[in-house]
Amino acid sequence: MRENAINGYDVIIVGGGPAGLCAAMYAGRGMLKAVTIERGAPGGELLNTDLIEDYIGFESIKGWDLAVKMSEHAKKFGAEIVTDTVERIRKVDDGWFDVVTSRGALYRAPAVILTAGGTPVKLGVPGEQDYAAKGVSYCAVCDGAFFKGEVLAVVGGGDAAVEEADYLTRYASKVYIVHRRDQLRASKILQQRVFANPKIEMIWNKRVVEIKGTGQAVDHLLLADAITGDPVRLRVGGVFIFIGFKPNTGVIEGHVKHDAAGYLITDEKMMTSIPGLFAAGDVRSQVTRQITTAVGDATTAAIAVEKYLAALREKEKAAVGS
Ligand SMILES: Cc1cc2nc3c(=O)[nH]c(=O)nc-3n(C[C@H](O)[C@H](O)[C@H](O)COP(=O)(O)OP(=O)(O)OC[C@H]3O[C@@H](n4cnc5c(N)ncnc54)[C@H](O)[C@@H]3O)c2cc1C
Repeated sequence: MRENAINGYDVIIVGGGPAGLCAAMYAGRGMLKAVTIERGAPGGELLNTDLIEDYIGFESIKGWDLAVKMSEHAKKFGAEIVTDTVERIRKVDDGWFDVVTSRGALYRAPAVILTAGGTPVKLGVPGEQDYAAKGVSYCAVCDGAFFKGEVLAVVGGGDAAVEEADYLTRYASKVYIVHRRDQLRASKILQQRVFANPKIEMIWNKRVVEIKGTGQAVDHLLLADAITGDPVRLRVGGVFIFIGFKPNTGVIEGHVKHDAAGYLITDEKMMTSIPGLFAAGDVRSQVTRQITTAVGDATTAAIAVEKYLAALREKEKAAVGS
């Protein structure tokens, strides 16, 4: 299969969210030949976000609009964006990376920047899978409008849960936030916003045990008290689950250093424990996961790739000369 490989790239960027698009722009400006492989529309999580109010320079911008702006900006500097899903990234004996896609393409390059973000963590309770897209959702912006006038539940206690609960009150008549602890993890400003929202009611110290419905739609949740275990029945027309993200690192073959939650550990140049494999954005182990941090990582990674490749060429030249 190697003879059919698509060669000629300096770097392969996996994922076309904010980090991937920013890396593509910097790679283009650095005169690197780069390809960005994205399984969906470019923009990543921006496409699931309604309004962004904390990306400096834009007091308020729709996620979709920012995605288009980032994509156009990257293309202006020569970004080549291919629609395909990466299935495997493997460093082979010659020191180059094989990047295999679901369409059967094999891309080869001496460096890869992984910017594949994360996937929502599932509750793993009965009914969750049965009612997926029938009342169980992981994206308020995508599905909120389908629940006009309904009573909804949001599960979780972090920034995403609280922000999305607030967003859902545009459509829902009431939103319960079901949290298994007695306080939220979300930032204080977001907490203040939900506590001030008359349509939001907190349900503290409760775990979701089962999602029940009519067969066609969610009808209620079975909850258990986190302390006593006592059961509680909560009537809702839909449930939005925001209990975290799992980094999309399963495509990497071989061992790579990661933290306890599976996020990739990098050095200050964004290089992982596999030389030549860089990581940027939500897939990387760090304190905060925001658009600003994703593009910051990507800037560093793209510039570090330039230096990595230059050093590699020097090494090759020295080896030929000796
Ligand atoms: C609901 C919600 C609201 C948010 N609101 C804000 C906000 O207001 N402000 C803020 O700063 N941040 C916000 N964030 C966080 C922000 O969106 C992320 O931190 C940012 O998008 C991370 O960028 P990324 O490029 O690392 O990852 P992502 O945006 O997740 O992009 C990863 C891309 O990789 C692609 N991909 C994954 N696997 C593969 C594969 N195998 N092959 C090909 N492509 C692949 C995905 O399709 C995706 O497009 C929000 C997040 C969510 C979920």
